[in-house]
Amino acid sequence: MTISEGDVPGSVAPQKLAAQVARQLENEIMDRKWPIGEVLGSETDLQARFKVSRSILREAIRLLEHQQVARMRRGPGGGLVVSAPDTSLPIRALVIYLEYIGVSVEDLGRARMLLEPLAARLAAETVTESSIDALRAIVNEEHARIADSSIASGKDFHAMLGQLSGNALLQMFTEVVTGLSTRYLQTSRRIAEGAAREARTHVANRHSEIVEAVIAGDGAAAQTRVTTHLEEVITWMLAQKIHPKVERMRTRPVDPDPKSGDKLAEIVAGRIHNDITTEDWQVGEILGSESDLLTRYGVSRAVLRESLQILEHHSVARMRRGPGGGLVILAPDPTANIRAMALYLNYRGLSPDDLFVVHEAIALECVHTLTAGELSPDTASRLREALDLSTEQGDSGDLFHTEIAELAGNPILSLFLRITTELRARNGLSDKARSAQGASDVRDAHEKILVAVLAGDEGLAQHRMRRHLQDLATW
Ligand SMILES: [Zn+2]
Ligand SMILES: [Zn+2]
Repeated sequence: MTISEGDVPGSVAPQKLAAQVARQLENEIMDRKWPIGEVLGSETDLQARFKVSRSILREAIRLLEHQQVARMRRGPGGGLVVSAPDTSLPIRALVIYLEYIGVSVEDLGRARMLLEPLAARLAAETVTESSIDALRAIVNEEHARIADSSIASGKDFHAMLGQLSGNALLQMFTEVVTGLSTRYLQTSRRIAEGAAREARTHVANRHSEIVEAVIAGDGAAAQTRVTTHLEEVITWMLAQKIHPKVERMRTRPVDPDPKSGDKLAEIVAGRIHNDITTEDWQVGEILGSESDLLTRYGVSRAVLRESLQILEHHSVARMRRGPGGGLVILAPDPTANIRAMALYLNYRGLSPDDLFVVHEAIALECVHTLTAGELSPDTASRLREALDLSTEQGDSGDLFHTEIAELAGNPILSLFLRITTELRARNGLSDKARSAQGASDVRDAHEKILVAVLAGDEGLAQHRMRRHLQDLATW
């Protein structure tokens, strides 16, 4: 299939067209199992294939380069070369997104308490000589650093547990939540040195206890100790008033590092994004005209336009042409970040089992939250609507699940469930995949879950959700 500007006259903006071309190339790379180093075609080949102008194709390539999925190699034998994506990009993007929408410490805590004990248990079950060395090295260093004056976030330790779980998805999610915790701690007022030292000693001791359970291969103990430790961490964060009680918090993003080797356009995009956040620009407001921005950021028009393309890609801001135009602030939308994460995990080669474990844990936690409280009539009707919609459209049924997560009200888990859902769809594991065979079964299962949720029967709702997910996984 090719796309051309002429197919849908006037209705497809050039930006969108470039994004479609980029998406098709990404799909092709995934379908071909990431042939790193292979040339997908020269600029002329690709232009002919997609029937788009040179400028549209270049925009598409810039998006692929931004995602680090492919890059243009100049010169003889050149062309669009498949590259290995970098994990730090999608993680950083998700951390900034969650920070931007203002996730509470309570929600962060619940997400951590769901994912990290699970990671610790898996780490204990698969522990090896080299992971023992790595864990001991980290806790030894922590004990040695107790005299440091900084507030230790313990990010390295927790991220290491995520890594040692052997589950790439759990590892990524752990890095996102620990990364977010670190950002929150960085913004907190400094606490008295004596108290900080005591807290660091306590944390280092807790980490040692967890490590001993992991090394002993005692999954249950590792899981319990991480849970206990995180309860303390979250209680401590709340007591430090790192999070104002009602108001959702917003923190200052770190300035992009000009020495990071990022392209200038990426750096400028990061700077504009920071300014939008810290100057508290609201959705719909106009940051400035193109000439204002050229003056403000002191870059060439070409670089600025490239930066704006990245910002539009992440749904941060978009240039509106014409009178009264300028750079308009957009509502935050994680779609591009979800896609980036899914792309990276596809590259890493996530097993269906690994995906299932994480997806199930999040889905059950969302059912738990939803049934634990009183359901408002509005929530109930939204759930019924989602059920009807997924059935009517004969489509995935995934909508029912994402709506449960959304209504459960934890933005982190809702975002993570959207990622696992996207990954399941990619693996052909969505409810849709067997809708021809079992559309009515899926509908029945959803209805039964809904009945239990509406009745506030937590145990039954969890049981039905678990059975439904297991049925899907074994089909
Ligand atoms: Zn810790
Ligand atoms: Zn379903």
